[in-house]
Amino acid sequence: MNPNIEEVLLAEPRGFCAGVDRAIEIVERAIAKFGAPIYVRHEIVHNTYVVNELKAKGAIFIEELSDVPPGATLVFSAHGVSKAVEQEARDRGFSIFDATCPLVTKVHVEVAKLAKEGYEFIMIGHKGHPEVEGTMGQLSSGIHLVEDVADVANAAPLQTEKLAVVTQTTLSVDDAAEIAAAVRARFPNVREPKQQDICYATQNRQDAVKIMSPQVDLVIVVGSPTSSNSNRLRELAQRLGTESYMVDSADELKPEWFEGKTRVGLTAGASAPEVLVHEVIERVRAFGAVSVRKMDGIEETIKFPLPKGLKLDDIPPP
Ligand code: SF4
Repeated sequence: MNPNIEEVLLAEPRGFCAGVDRAIEIVERAIAKFGAPIYVRHEIVHNTYVVNELKAKGAIFIEELSDVPPGATLVFSAHGVSKAVEQEARDRGFSIFDATCPLVTKVHVEVAKLAKEGYEFIMIGHKGHPEVEGTMGQLSSGIHLVEDVADVANAAPLQTEKLAVVTQTTLSVDDAAEIAAAVRARFPNVREPKQQDICYATQNRQDAVKIMSPQVDLVIVVGSPTSSNSNRLRELAQRLGTESYMVDSADELKPEWFEGKTRVGLTAGASAPEVLVHEVIERVRAFGAVSVRKMDGIEETIKFPLPKGLKLDDIPPP
């Protein structure tokens, strides 16, 4: 018990974005329409709780398409897939639903369009992240990954007349801007997206942490270790000088983090459900928090349509 905690400040916005909402709904509706099991390539979104809930409802998560039986229904995760994975899934004859976030698809479309015009690409992103693999895999070659400013010096496009920048959607806005500036300095002709590829949800959650961090002694981020945008929120708070931890669930909270703290900030990555935020609030109350206050912030109203075949009219009532 820490009697010093006066207030928990709740960041706004936090938690689920439109792409995550849609991806989860696609799996749930596919199960409702076709019955379990439904196969999902990779974690539908990077959150342990969400994945376990969907497993309990009948989803089976796989990494290799060879693990999916013939004739099965397969869902691609919100992070998107490469052309090779898409083709393999078609060749194997699965019934496919694509839960790729439309904002990731937008990047894929842009890459395909510019590639036809002869462009090569510098992609700013994290090596090994499924979204980066999916975007880089839109082309057989010609996309050069840079993870930081130092990588920019080593990028080796075959030509620099037609070069464009694309980014992963869930990066640190500030880091991406710094890397993009280094790209611009080395390749002055580089074409940049009209609108940044970093998505509205990533931007809004980082903006909210920037406002919240200076007002609190500690920032807790609810998110799974694999979640890129959740990690970026924790790093951002830390960078702003506020002690910060990321937890997958309330059970990971350590009482000693709260010692001597009077105001605690709480946020959640775009793949972390609100139920986990409530569990964290309850635990922090048990540590002595007196009140909870929601900060002012942008209200997100964006919603993405579901794919054909999974709209409400397509699914018979249970
Ligand atoms: Fe889409 Fe952004 Fe959400 Fe990722 S974080 S699913 S890109 S809206």
